[in-house]
Amino acid sequence: MVRVTVLGSGSKGNCTVVSTGRTRIVLDAGFSAKEIVKRMRLSGEEPEKLNAILITHEHQDHVQGLSVLARRWNVPVYATQATHAAWREWITPRTRMSFSAWLESRRQQTAELLQSAMAGESDSAVAPVPGDASIEIPALAAAAQEPQVLDAVASSPSDDPAYLPCVEHFHAGIPFEIGDIRVTPFTIPHDAADPVGFVLQAEGMRIVVATDLGYLAPNVRMHLQRADLLVIESNHDVEMLRDGPYPWVVKQRVLSRVGHLSNDALGEYLASEYDGGARYVILAHISESNNLPELAQSSAERALDGRMGLLGNKVLLASQHEPLESIQL
Ligand SMILES: [Zn+2]
Ligand SMILES: [Zn+2]
Repeated sequence: MVRVTVLGSGSKGNCTVVSTGRTRIVLDAGFSAKEIVKRMRLSGEEPEKLNAILITHEHQDHVQGLSVLARRWNVPVYATQATHAAWREWITPRTRMSFSAWLESRRQQTAELLQSAMAGESDSAVAPVPGDASIEIPALAAAAQEPQVLDAVASSPSDDPAYLPCVEHFHAGIPFEIGDIRVTPFTIPHDAADPVGFVLQAEGMRIVVATDLGYLAPNVRMHLQRADLLVIESNHDVEMLRDGPYPWVVKQRVLSRVGHLSNDALGEYLASEYDGGARYVILAHISESNNLPELAQSSAERALDGRMGLLGNKVLLASQHEPLESIQL
C-alpha cells in the first residue's frame, strides 16, 4: 500500500508525504520544520521514520523548513546541484557594501591607523574592520545579528546555515531509488534554477507531482500519463488574477511561461490530452488571492466531465492551512 498525504499546498508552503510500509519521503519542505512535524503527526506519519527529503526547487514556499527538518531528524536531502546551490545562496546571509560606504570606511580606517601610529599604538590588537558597526549600513546591521558576516567560511556545521547532514544530487530525467520508491524527476517550466516535478513509483502505483508550472510542456504531459494519483497545480483564475491585488510585474510573472498554471490551462489539458486513468486528481498550489477553491474544482470537474466516478478522477483540493486526508493506493 502506498500512502500519499498533501500536508499543505499554496504560495505560503508546500509539503507532501509519500510512504510505503518500508519507505517514507517528504516532497518539499515549504513550512517551518515545526509545522511539518505537527502536520505529519496529525496525519499519522512519523518524522522519526523519514528516509529522505526531495526538493522541487529553491523558492521559499518549498524550502522554508528544509535545513531544520533535515538536521533535526538527520534526513538526507535530494535536490539537483543547481537547486542546492541556489538554496545555499538564498539561506546564507550576505552583506553588500555600497561604494560610498566602502570609501567612508577606508577613510575612517586610514584616519584611525594614522591616529594610533601617532599615539605609538601601531601594534594595537584591535584592527579596524571595514564596515564596522559605526558605519550605518542597514544590511550590515542586520547581518551583524547573524552568525555569519561578510561571507566568512564556516568553521563548523552549526555555524553554517546551509549545512545539511547529507545531500544527494540528482538530474532531471535520470531515475533513482529511495528504499522501495522509484523516483523520476522531470524538468518543469518555472522561474527557478533547475525546477522539477516527480514521478514516484511503488507497489505498482504511479504518483505524479507537478506544481509551479508556467505551462504544460510536452515533457510534462508525457510524465503525467498513466498516473494513479495526480497532484497538479491549479493556481489561478485568469480573470481574478488580472483584476486582483498583485502589482503588474507580479501578474506578468505568474501568467508567463515560467510562472504558474491557471484553472483554464489545466482544464484544457484534462479535457483533451489527459488519459483519464488516475483515481485521484489533487488540485494544488491554489492561490488564495487569485483563485477560489470552488472555481478550481468546478473547472477541473467540468473538464473531466463524464469521466469522474467512484473509482476514477476524484477531484480533491489541497489546502494551504491543513493536511488533506491521506490517500491509500
Ligand atoms: Zn516556485
Ligand atoms: Zn510554489
